[in-house]
Amino acid sequence: MNEDLYPHSPDVFERETEDNGFSKGWGLHFQPSERYWIDCHNHASAKTGFMQAFNEWINWAIGWRLAKVIIVDGHPKTLKNAFSSDPFSYEELSETIKNDKRLAFLYAPGVDTPDVEPLIEALECGAKGLKLWSPTLIIEGRKPDEFEEPKWEAVFKIVNERGLPILWHVTQRLTASPYTGGALHAYWSEGWKKGIKWTNEDLLQSFLRIARAYPNGHFIGAHQHYVGWDRLEQIFEEYPNTYIDTSIGCFVRWGDVMYPEDQKRIRRFFIKYADRILFGTDTGIGKDAHQETSRLGLMGHIRFIRQLNLPYDELQKVSHQNAERLFRLEPSSDARMGNIRP
Ligand SMILES: [Zn+2]
Repeated sequence: MNEDLYPHSPDVFERETEDNGFSKGWGLHFQPSERYWIDCHNHASAKTGFMQAFNEWINWAIGWRLAKVIIVDGHPKTLKNAFSSDPFSYEELSETIKNDKRLAFLYAPGVDTPDVEPLIEALECGAKGLKLWSPTLIIEGRKPDEFEEPKWEAVFKIVNERGLPILWHVTQRLTASPYTGGALHAYWSEGWKKGIKWTNEDLLQSFLRIARAYPNGHFIGAHQHYVGWDRLEQIFEEYPNTYIDTSIGCFVRWGDVMYPEDQKRIRRFFIKYADRILFGTDTGIGKDAHQETSRLGLMGHIRFIRQLNLPYDELQKVSHQNAERLFRLEPSSDARMGNIRP
């Protein structure tokens, strides 16, 4: 069989010679599988009792080999109720992540809080990087390049000096996306009422200028910047410190099997840029009714990656190694059989 197109798990080949080939051909159909997943894009949706919701979530998702989630709402305001009692301090969060290796968090300042002190504090308490969210600029009818204003310079300087990763939601597609449950003109309908005339291209260009100006930072575009694979290829070639997460666009509904032409096209991209793609789902970890949707969300993102039939090494990069490298996470131990508890 053509191993380039139809790769098998490395142990299939080990059995050809181990024990004088005694088990040669046993399990010959085994495909490469991820040792485990790290989900680099999660929200703390539970406004109280987050840890209980998180435990329920990961106890279920462990069966899908989810080893770790990165919570992107690491801001005192949004995390106040979820993790800690009022007044917020990072200490409880810091204690929690020290004792629970299944969890990490990012520091997420708003557009108007480019202050350095809380960033330093968050990093000292274990934040693994930053999360930025440009739709605020759309919703509030502001300028597309506000992150380039002098007030943000000190933050990006720290990012550059320390080689930090930033998970950054930059643009917002204009069509609806019924396939993934996305509404028509999300955020833009509000911005247009406030008179904005600029476009996604302006947001993207501002992001790219910042990525270029701070070459030691790692700039991870959420939702593939809502651009197609050809455009993304140009961006990756021109801006070596940019990456994407797989959230929302890299998804199949539960019953869908990708068509061969689409699979081939995307597979080629994933193999070529296996170092630049991080598994992420944008799942909100919360309670009750939303859990079922979240489960289908995680599974749909996993199924997308698995349908690409990636070779073993590329699959490990996308599923968890890139996240471990960029966010400087310890590898999860003994995950091969789903035993991924710390
Ligand atoms: Zn998100």
